[in-house]
Amino acid sequence: MHESTMEQLWRTSHLAGGNFAYVEQLYETYLTDPNGIPQAWREYFDKLPKEEGLPSQDVPHSVIKEQFLKLSRRRAAAVEASPTSLVSTEHERKQVKVLQLINTYRFRGHQKAKLDPLNLMVREHVADMELEYHGLTKADLDTVFQTGSLCFGVETMTFGEIIRGLEFTYCDTVGAEYMHIVNTEEKRWVQQRLESVRSHPVYEKERRYHLLERLSAAEGLEKYLSSRYPGTKRFGLEGGESLIPLLDELIQRAGSYGAKEIVIGMAHRGRLNVLVNTLGKNPKALFDEFEGKRLLDEGSGDVKYHQGFSSNVLTPGGEVHLALAFNPSHLEIVSPVVEGSVRARQDRRDDTAGDAVVPVIMHGDAAFAGQGVVMETFQMSQTRGYGVGGTVHIIINNQVGFTTHRREDARSTEYCTDVAKMVQAPIFHVNGDDPEAVLFVTQVAMDYRNTFKKDVVIDLLCYRRRGHNEADEPSATQPLMYQCIKSLPTTRQIYAQRLINEGVITEEESARLENEYRDLLDKGDHVVKSLVKEPNKELFVDWSPYLGHQWTAKCKTGISLKTLQKLGRKMDVLPDGFVPQRQVSKILEDRKKMTQSAMPVNWGYAEVMAYATLLHEGHSIRLTGQDVGRGTFSHRHAVLHNQKDGGLHIPLQHLAEGQPVFDIYDSYLSEEAVLAFEYGYATTNPKTLVIWEAQFGDFANGAQVVIDQFITSGEHKWGRLCGLTMLLPHGYEGQGPEHSSARLERYLQLCAEHNIQVCVPTTPAQVFHMLRRQVKRPLRKPLVAMSPKSLLRHKDAVSTVEELAEGHFYTVLGEIDDHIDPKQVRRVIMCSGKVYYDLLDKRRNENIQDVAIIRIEQLYPFPEDDLEEVLSAYKKLTNIVWCQEEPMNQGAWYCSQHHMRNVLAKTHPKLYLEYAGRPGSAAPAAGYGHVHAEEQAKLVNDAFTI
Ligand code: AMP
Repeated sequence: MHESTMEQLWRTSHLAGGNFAYVEQLYETYLTDPNGIPQAWREYFDKLPKEEGLPSQDVPHSVIKEQFLKLSRRRAAAVEASPTSLVSTEHERKQVKVLQLINTYRFRGHQKAKLDPLNLMVREHVADMELEYHGLTKADLDTVFQTGSLCFGVETMTFGEIIRGLEFTYCDTVGAEYMHIVNTEEKRWVQQRLESVRSHPVYEKERRYHLLERLSAAEGLEKYLSSRYPGTKRFGLEGGESLIPLLDELIQRAGSYGAKEIVIGMAHRGRLNVLVNTLGKNPKALFDEFEGKRLLDEGSGDVKYHQGFSSNVLTPGGEVHLALAFNPSHLEIVSPVVEGSVRARQDRRDDTAGDAVVPVIMHGDAAFAGQGVVMETFQMSQTRGYGVGGTVHIIINNQVGFTTHRREDARSTEYCTDVAKMVQAPIFHVNGDDPEAVLFVTQVAMDYRNTFKKDVVIDLLCYRRRGHNEADEPSATQPLMYQCIKSLPTTRQIYAQRLINEGVITEEESARLENEYRDLLDKGDHVVKSLVKEPNKELFVDWSPYLGHQWTAKCKTGISLKTLQKLGRKMDVLPDGFVPQRQVSKILEDRKKMTQSAMPVNWGYAEVMAYATLLHEGHSIRLTGQDVGRGTFSHRHAVLHNQKDGGLHIPLQHLAEGQPVFDIYDSYLSEEAVLAFEYGYATTNPKTLVIWEAQFGDFANGAQVVIDQFITSGEHKWGRLCGLTMLLPHGYEGQGPEHSSARLERYLQLCAEHNIQVCVPTTPAQVFHMLRRQVKRPLRKPLVAMSPKSLLRHKDAVSTVEELAEGHFYTVLGEIDDHIDPKQVRRVIMCSGKVYYDLLDKRRNENIQDVAIIRIEQLYPFPEDDLEEVLSAYKKLTNIVWCQEEPMNQGAWYCSQHHMRNVLAKTHPKLYLEYAGRPGSAAPAAGYGHVHAEEQAKLVNDAFTI
């Protein structure tokens, strides 16, 4: 221990006389926040002896304490004789308390802040923000103290000045929560930004005028719509008008930092206002929607407050493309969709830092606190596969969720924003009726995102002037709140009056702003001044090559054998010294043989070769899901792990210099957010093959909202194409109710108007061509594929490399495995999926020659023509059966039989389609192995005899 340095420090410090508690407090602060203590002390602590293997700040506390105590006693004895010692000791004791109080303001000031424009928010008393709690009194207000780490720009101030500064910074209309951030640099950064201007920067006249102009636009639109379409649902922004200047600032500031695209997500509240006043949608187009006019030539369309929109606006950094995501009524689900869209745009631009594309997501307070997908979205924010360099979240906090107002009903957390603390996002609560405070926190939030590339939250506390919608009477459930709202001037009125009082504008100027805006609306003109009339199309993707195609569009999915084998050989090359695990080695050895046609091709090989050939042809690939690197059933091994050092090798990333990107990420354990993310990615990037794989197929039911609201209906509602592929392991292997079925029936039930494709490939060649077809056709339609489990290793589920090279995807597979003479055939069994091999086994074992087995490999769009062609070959049929493993109320039976009957009506009008399968069942499968085996044997037998 460097005693001389310490003694010197103590002697020269204002604490000379020794105060162990103070030093200990300093040391505690140093441990968590080295920049939070005076430099001299920091340098001193930095020099303390280091423990072997420990970082510099990890000197055991007990050792330090011991040293401090010794010194403290020695110094105390030395100064005891001094007549001033008592006075000085008392001052130093108070200095400690003052520093503690400063810290309390930083931690808890927001709990005292004037955040609620209605002033109805129930706040708990914060005892440790009282002077008395710290042993301080009003009598101390004139005493001068050191300001410690306060960023007030001076080293000493009177206690009264310190308190006033802290109140202004932390307890006025901005309530900042950031002390939960562990990273010291970030914490100090926020502190510095807030304290240096006491959270109240002085804005220039032009800026304030612009704020009022934006508020006039926000209020003006709602007033206009209210008078032109009284009582029509629009989920108005009234009460939350500050959102419009907030967004304006975010966009302009992001642009000035070099952003080229901003993707915006929001629910219905205030959406029309954002569309017109932020994105520059033509008001006339909005009026047409109010009048119920048709927007899409095809499809159902959607209500006006779910519509997305795109435009380009000018910022100080140049033109920025804005995209507002389409949104269903399921409030928070759009968040991961936006993140996926942002990631796709960042990937397109090679923007790994997240500078060029920025996500901005608006949330309602109730949904933000209530919906689990919010947590899932935060959880993805810093992961490799899903990170986008931080999102700016805005809560339009009108303090009432539809009719639920009481906090004890709405949530268990203090704030609706508490979930954001899980990623240590700073949270800025701000009173929406103070537009300058809103502007300030917006600037800090945008700068934080830009500096640290992490999520940040603005909690815009406002209110809802009307009911949930314009036809709703809110006083029935919130009488006191609405009494208060009725007598409250609007945000614009309050701010205009403030500017008039301060002589910034005149009453006439204020009125002129209102009138000018109304005139623009009357003319149906665009109201966003920064809107670019002739947008730079380079800023976004051209989707025209993908429009207007049918699923039958032709494409070549074969590839020359030479190329296939060349790629196969490249996949074999491992880095020097790379040692794969033993079983993986065997798989790689087998793959070598498959390339040389020395062994039949299995599923894993065909699948990775589909990727290799697509990459070779210039298509990038993104493959995610819970265990996709290896494959849940250990068939893929696209990511290899070196047994010597844990290093990774991904052969598909090493096919050629400058090859397209092959991204593969094991996802965190979510279905809802990750599937929504991939939907967002695929609807933004038509060139990449985007695949999400479920661990077991039925786990996708955790993402049912994404399937219903986006994947199967997005094109119909919003005209947005999506080429996403979902691989869903499915098959009855006796593993019980939860691991057997991918709930095929759910997808089939959602099928209409050729919205999606549902395939059940049963051979390696089929999966090869199915995956390649998904990208090679110009069509972009979601593909739902039931993928196998036991078939991954089934001796008969094999193909040849020639079948990969020369074949294509067959929607219907007729007899190919055995030599069955069509003239002999009396019975046809139709099936899909793995049961084919059980049927085949039985036929072979019993040498049955008069039964043909036909596989329907694409259940939707149902290939009636192809089936007709196959069935027509069998002229002497007496029976035709549909066989499935799933219970009767599940699988394809109910949803697809009408297609089969349509075909039969043409080929064999006298035959009745029979069913061989499990009887209807509440659970998808039996939980007991022997019950499963009996059921399986019976249904296979039935198929031959029924
Ligand atoms: P965005 O960058 O999302 O604003 O998209 C720009 C434009 O591309 C849109 O206005 C659409 O015309 C078109 N577009 C974007 N995504 C899709 C999609 N998934 N399907 C069809 N067209 C799209």
